Amino acid sequence: MAMNVVALAGGVGGAKLAHGLALVLTPEELTIVVNTGDDFQHLGLYISPDLDTVCYTLAGLANTSTGWGRAGETWQALETLGELGGPTWFRLGDRDLGLHLERTRRLKQGQRLSQITRHFCKVWGVQCQVLPMSDDSVPTWVYTVNEGELTFQEYFVHRQCHPHVTGFRFEGVERSHPAPGVLAALQRADLVVICPSNPWVSIGPILAVPGIRQALGGNPAPVVAVSPIIGGQAVKGPAAKMYAELGIQPSAFSVANHYGSLLTGFVFDVLDAVQENPITELGIRPLITDTLMKSTQDRRRLAREVLIFGDELRGA
Ligand code: GDP
Repeated sequence: MAMNVVALAGGVGGAKLAHGLALVLTPEELTIVVNTGDDFQHLGLYISPDLDTVCYTLAGLANTSTGWGRAGETWQALETLGELGGPTWFRLGDRDLGLHLERTRRLKQGQRLSQITRHFCKVWGVQCQVLPMSDDSVPTWVYTVNEGELTFQEYFVHRQCHPHVTGFRFEGVERSHPAPGVLAALQRADLVVICPSNPWVSIGPILAVPGIRQALGGNPAPVVAVSPIIGGQAVKGPAAKMYAELGIQPSAFSVANHYGSLLTGFVFDVLDAVQENPITELGIRPLITDTLMKSTQDRRRLAREVLIFGDELRGA
């Protein structure tokens, strides 16, 4: 049965499940809406880390060991930059730089991020629809105890998530608009999948764009999230550390509680099976399975299980 699935995704964790979904659905059945709160300007270039991670992953160009950037990358431009005294804290490979140059050139010509992304996907043979959450700039700021307000990349890459966080701000989000196609995809969705991405800084910004949460609420289709927290820990990145610093115990339950009434179903790991009752008591249907995606096969299997769960929740 043909269906319309919308996946909300950040970078690394989101890209893995999005890839699994792309492997089991036809291109027409899948739309991926990607966080752009991490986007920033650096060295005069417009950089969209999550969008690039998702597109590189779907195109088979990603570096699977780092989880970001491209496979087979070389670093000569960055080396030269360092020799000349330029900033090298944000690692940009030569191939990656080529992409940032072209995106920046097109943006300066007046093209929209969504248009440019469509073009790059076409060139790379990515057939499903990949949409930035918005064509407007919505930079994420991280409030910290000792270092004030940091831009997301300053916190994430330069300071390597060391500062203790107290909150987040998505600058200008109230004036932002969903990118063309986002609301239409959500309105016709038979299933919405919130990928195992950071709930605070990857999914949070997407849900904060005016209209997106309303479109989810206005569509009776099930919304299923996959937990990025396994056994109280993030697989990668600061999600668990953020929960702890914000005074919330990092757990699958906390993620389910975070999304709350938005969710119809929640997929979490066998390691966290004891949390089934508290999650069910939130009024959310549980699916307990192996949620760690180490291989392409894992991505495909988890995606298939999420789709079958979605069917059950729809009563199909
Ligand atoms: P970022 O923007 O690159 O940080 O990417 P995301 O927000 O999409 O991904 C980070 C989150 O993905 C972290 O909280 C990880 O715990 C989670 N994650 C990464 N790999 C996996 C995985 O294989 N399974 C699950 N369940 N979560 C994962």
